[in-house]
Amino acid sequence: MLSNVMEMKRGAGAYVLPELPSEMLPIDEYDEVHVNVSGGADSVATVLVALHDYRIPKEKIKLVHMRVDGDPNSGKRPLFDWPQTDEFLEYLSKALDLPLIVIWDELGLEGRIRERGMFPSSQCRFCTSYLKRDVYAKWVRQFDNIKILLLTGERSEESTERSEKPIFRLHSAHKTRRKNRLVHWLTPIKHMLKTEVRQLCADYGIELHPCYQWVSRCSCKFCIFNTSSEMSRTSQLFPEDWAYLKEMEQELGHTMKSKDGMSHSLSAFIKEDQIAFF
Ligand code: SF4
Repeated sequence: MLSNVMEMKRGAGAYVLPELPSEMLPIDEYDEVHVNVSGGADSVATVLVALHDYRIPKEKIKLVHMRVDGDPNSGKRPLFDWPQTDEFLEYLSKALDLPLIVIWDELGLEGRIRERGMFPSSQCRFCTSYLKRDVYAKWVRQFDNIKILLLTGERSEESTERSEKPIFRLHSAHKTRRKNRLVHWLTPIKHMLKTEVRQLCADYGIELHPCYQWVSRCSCKFCIFNTSSEMSRTSQLFPEDWAYLKEMEQELGHTMKSKDGMSHSLSAFIKEDQIAFF
């Protein structure tokens, strides 16, 4: 029965890059492979590709998660991370038998917003740079005499911006003059479609993060890119955090959203005065 189930799987290789970029080393020459995991289906699919298509030995793989709200033991309000994410990543780590590294920026996203006196936006996306990119780069700079392959789960289908990004890059933490550290960055599922990502997760029996019941992407619960209906749903799921976020808009004198160049409050964005609460 088990072998039948195994035969039914399409295998990750059905979906990914037919050839690796020529600038890369042969995959078995990397000492470590880091997969950035948010908890979203794309990051899960990336791990599955690493394991089942590239057949990277488990001893070389680390799941690396960047928490957006900072230290979970700081006592600060967890405003942006989904409360289920830590548990989901523990589940994923156990299910795949891979180590999980959780790292964060000390200020967290709320702290960075207050420091700057503004919310991030698509033009000034400091949330991703401070809370994700820089946190990983700082962590990885501790290593020397090592060849690292970083895998992340961006896909062309998600946005024009993502479709224009290269499949392969040297990471900003690639060697400096004094360090012998190589950090190659590959986006192996760039050409996969959302339906294929979901199918791959199902083929390997991996559950999806529970947030997909409410939002289409597993990002911050109050992500700047949430649609009005997604923001409306999360506002109802987390009413205290929503009230706090609206207070932040007042305190900062800056709104998360704008429309036609004009500030657009969170309440107006979700047309809160028209929502029927049952
Ligand atoms: S999920 Fe949205 S709000 Fe959170 S870091 Fe990414 S872009 Fe910024």
